[in-house]
Amino acid sequence: MYDVIIIGAGIGGLTCSAKLASKGKRVLILEKIHHIGGTSHIFRRGNFLFPMGPLSFSFPNLVKEILDDIGINQNISFQRSNFQLITPEIDILYSQEWNNFKERLKELYPKDRIGIEKFFLEFGKLLKAISQVNRWHPEFLVGKKRELAELKLLKLHREEYELYEKYKEKSSKIILDEYLENNSLKRLLGSQGTFEPVMNMVHLAFMWNVMSIEGIWFPSCGIHGINELLREYIQKNDGEIKLNTPVNEIIIENNKAIGVKIKGGELYRAHWIVANADYKKVFLELLNPNKVSKLYLDVVKNTAYTGSEFCVYLGINPEKVDLSRMRADHLFYRAKILKSQDIDNEDFENKEIEICLWSNKSSDFAPEGMKSLVLRVNMPYKHFERWWIGEKKRKKGYKEYKYELAEKLIDTVEQVLPGLSSSIQVKEIATPLTYNDWGQRYRGSIAGWSRVIKKIRIKSRLLLQGPIERLLMVGIYSVLEPFLGGYPVSMYTGSLAADLILEKS
Ligand SMILES: Cc1cc2nc3c(=O)[nH]c(=O)nc-3n(C[C@H](O)[C@H](O)[C@H](O)COP(=O)(O)OP(=O)(O)OC[C@H]3O[C@@H](n4cnc5c(N)ncnc54)[C@H](O)[C@@H]3O)c2cc1C
Repeated sequence: MYDVIIIGAGIGGLTCSAKLASKGKRVLILEKIHHIGGTSHIFRRGNFLFPMGPLSFSFPNLVKEILDDIGINQNISFQRSNFQLITPEIDILYSQEWNNFKERLKELYPKDRIGIEKFFLEFGKLLKAISQVNRWHPEFLVGKKRELAELKLLKLHREEYELYEKYKEKSSKIILDEYLENNSLKRLLGSQGTFEPVMNMVHLAFMWNVMSIEGIWFPSCGIHGINELLREYIQKNDGEIKLNTPVNEIIIENNKAIGVKIKGGELYRAHWIVANADYKKVFLELLNPNKVSKLYLDVVKNTAYTGSEFCVYLGINPEKVDLSRMRADHLFYRAKILKSQDIDNEDFENKEIEICLWSNKSSDFAPEGMKSLVLRVNMPYKHFERWWIGEKKRKKGYKEYKYELAEKLIDTVEQVLPGLSSSIQVKEIATPLTYNDWGQRYRGSIAGWSRVIKKIRIKSRLLLQGPIERLLMVGIYSVLEPFLGGYPVSMYTGSLAADLILEKS
């Protein structure tokens, strides 16, 4: 019998386990695949190291605080990542300090000067209010901390709370339309790119808080280095990690989670179960549907996730490519903006492509004299579904098709990085099927629940506790909006779940 079984060794599961192990709890992590870290994993191709998921993250001080709290006092420094957008209409660095960014926008969009000033004034108040939301708002806390926050809320945080309440369901599109005329400006402020604004105002404020106020950073030990620190700590404190051990079922008795069955049928029992697998996987695949209310399952089923991606990894010879238009190590590039309703998924010119100069993050990632790039573009799982015939099994022709598509993507990126195709030394490709089978994400989803207000049926912000007792959810899908950005929010929920278990046992 274990104190806690954790399903999944992603950063959420590792953080939760390490914190529990630090307090003497007997923990067992069951991980489906062959490595820890989940999607925050790196892999080697030739002499290059590439990231499966996260390229950088926000809230570095919170990440350090969570590690310190566990007892991991590693000296980690952080390097800031910058973000640039190039479209036919604009070329801008948008990861700037908030007031500088405002001034730059006023220069670029002089007709909207007054609207920009008014929008920044109103939005700036909201940004300030939500910047530390997890420190004071009960909706982002659990257990005793939540009770305490409820008591203090109106005495100490009335103003922030009222702003939060005013904007949490308000469409950002309506507000942007009220203040601004220029559509490319509205799209930039409403999506940090070229998409129509679809989020509520609070979610938008979380995104700008991460981008402009907290910043986005890369740790000196690498993101995978943090995973390793946690693994070492868990094992040093007698925690067990079993790789290649998929959980097939969470066992429920009298509405309480009592254990899990792994592939092959073996049963492990524990007082608590923590699931780091994504929400839909847990509720739609790992639980007996007769043990959960149909209403709850319908909400989970009918609330959308973010979509998936097509990704090309390149090891390059920098002498053969002109990288001069990249003024930041993350460039979002869109060659044309067509308004057509019928989206052609292979028309990369009409899509936003993230181009990350990955080797800038660490000299370990590319051999001397070489560089590496990660190219990413939205791609629905549906577009690739026809090739899937079983886990890690593909129909004949899949490989040729993904290489053909990669060539198209590289051709488009070549418009902004001339010479790219002749500079390539190493190439690897990930598709939505990769994120489904290797990333273990439901239909290859990338970044949590959908940002589109109309596609959300869930009301709570924190989804750590569901309808089953002693079953807790951690990771990026255990919050409705990744209010700290992806990686830190997964750590935060892992830490919260551990606090709750420690408090109740
Ligand atoms: C392509 C991509 C790019 C991203 N970029 C960024 C970024 O730049 N910055 C950022 O902050 N975030 C980014 N993210 C989000 C990122 O995934 C999260 O920030 C974070 O790594 C998620 O950690 P997690 O613990 O929530 O879950 P995961 O990393 O998904 O881990 C879940 C774990 O559960 C395991 N599991 C699933 N089912 C089972 C089962 N049945 N039995 C046992 N184990 C199981 C999985 O194998 C996996 O190891 C990106 C994600 C992707 C995919």
